[in-house]
Amino acid sequence: MFCTKCGHKNKINANFCSKCGSKLNIIIEHDLTPKKEVKKSMSLEKIFQVISVPLGIVLFAVARISLRTLFKYWFNNS
Ligand SMILES: [Zn+2]
Repeated sequence: MFCTKCGHKNKINANFCSKCGSKLNIIIEHDLTPKKEVKKSMSLEKIFQVISVPLGIVLFAVARISLRTLFKYWFNNS
């Protein structure tokens, strides 16, 4: 990118001008940061929604199996 102060051509990912040392335009990156965070939280909510259904089924199955084994032990002991 070009320096806004002296017009020197710098690397694309450079934060400061290599000629005059002034800060290069990174306002666009600052504007993108909150949007990314919003997207992340939204995707996390979606992941939780997707996981909650099979997780509930698995928990129900585990509870059933554990209850069965508990009843078996109870009948064997008495
Ligand atoms: Zn410069």
